[in-house]
Amino acid sequence: MSYTALYRKFRPDIFEDVKGQDHIVTTLRNQIKADRIGHAYLFTGTRGTGKTTIAKLFAKSVNCENPVDGSPCGQCRSCQTIASGASVNVIEIDAASNNGVDNIREIIDEVSYSPVEGKFKVYIIDEVHMLSIGAFNALLKTLEEPPSYVIFILATTEVHKIPITILSRCQRYDFKRITIETIADRLRELMDKEQVQVEEKALRYIAKTADGSMRDALSLLDQCIAFHFGEELTYDKVLDVLGAVDTEVFARLLEMIQAQDVTGCIALLEEVVMQGRELTQFVTDITWYLRNLLLVKTSDSDIEDVIDVSSDNLARLKAEAETMDAEEIMRQIRIFSELSGQIKYATQKRILIEMTLIKLCRPAMETTNDAVVARVKDLEEKIEKGVVQTAPVAIQSTETVTAAAPKPGLPKAIPDDIRQIVGSWHGIVAEASQPLKTHLKNAHLSLGGDNRLLIVVDDGVAYDYLSDEENRKHVETMISNFLQKEAAVQIQNLAPGRHFEENYVDLTKVINMDIEIEDE
Ligand SMILES: [Zn+2]
Repeated sequence: MSYTALYRKFRPDIFEDVKGQDHIVTTLRNQIKADRIGHAYLFTGTRGTGKTTIAKLFAKSVNCENPVDGSPCGQCRSCQTIASGASVNVIEIDAASNNGVDNIREIIDEVSYSPVEGKFKVYIIDEVHMLSIGAFNALLKTLEEPPSYVIFILATTEVHKIPITILSRCQRYDFKRITIETIADRLRELMDKEQVQVEEKALRYIAKTADGSMRDALSLLDQCIAFHFGEELTYDKVLDVLGAVDTEVFARLLEMIQAQDVTGCIALLEEVVMQGRELTQFVTDITWYLRNLLLVKTSDSDIEDVIDVSSDNLARLKAEAETMDAEEIMRQIRIFSELSGQIKYATQKRILIEMTLIKLCRPAMETTNDAVVARVKDLEEKIEKGVVQTAPVAIQSTETVTAAAPKPGLPKAIPDDIRQIVGSWHGIVAEASQPLKTHLKNAHLSLGGDNRLLIVVDDGVAYDYLSDEENRKHVETMISNFLQKEAAVQIQNLAPGRHFEENYVDLTKVINMDIEIEDE
């Protein structure tokens, strides 16, 4: 049996089957019923939200001989010719590949001929923002005085690129992202029609992944069904096909972050990579997971409807939320959302995630407000336990990180420039004059915000000297001369009673270790 893609098979034939854009559908149907049809429409919104689907339905409806409640009948000659693709009344243009003045002139020449049969000629120009300025100008003249039998439907994902002169001639419709609920319901409806067994949880996961796009949801579902054709589609199979990670992994990861267990985090990420999971998706999913945690944590009423998890998972989330405080969850959401923005087009996704995990485990390496809050909290906890001075093994020491030589993760996450600087630190310091030389020689090296070199000193005199603007700049110049490019450093003083190794990643250890491995 051959398999037709769901997206093709279930392209809506009537307005009732268009989901999630009720406000638009209602207005357009009312126009058809009242015979008050405009001549220029602009459909805007993210991809896969139904712009072209609705445009085509509208084109069919306005030409239909017996429209039913504003929807095309599907039976009359016009409906059938349009459905077969043979109609000359519905003209689809992809502006991405026909964006020149000549392309638009062609259309304009054609516009002057009234339709041979049917009532309207409907021009659907997709990706209209791709038109050149000349093309827009050519189009504008026709939009100003369109013949009564012509309708333009311009569709775009990037409305800000459309000239205001064009915008002002069009009725504008903003297509919303479709909710997870609506997408999941539609998928369920189609799966029932297809008599495919699918777990509810599986559909909801697909709906969530599609991020508001019905088209993406259908093609993801297609992909999953094709992989497991003839079998029940379970949540686990969907995770497998889409390269996603089970939430249990997130729970483990967050636990490790809380324990400041860098080695554990890196090892877990390694596991995820080895399973061939998609890392961009991984970051999106863990952000959602944290968002759910935060909702569970901060709302006291029933929130089962807002968050998208089974009752088992909800119980687990609740237990987990107990162990974290809201500020920490928010800090993590912020950091993962930032990562999510960077990772999409990055080539070294894994390294970016590793950096983030280190950052999360070591708030000391960050200087933002919430990182400071995390550090203060950490201190408060230690004071409560009475371990400020003698700190036994309250937090994982970086020793463990360096001891775990077979895990290649951590050293890789350090930028090349920093590696070079640390690797040649003695040489760079040797060039300095006194007292700078001594201060630098006694300093510890770690990684600061924005991937800067963080120089940590543990005596006040050295700190005062190095943090002096002029002296700091002098250090930066020394490093710049060595690197042959701009360099910035950050100076920090170790608070009394704090141990460098317990609070920072010691770059000299990490990097020296790396060199040893390479030498072998
Ligand atoms: Zn019809």
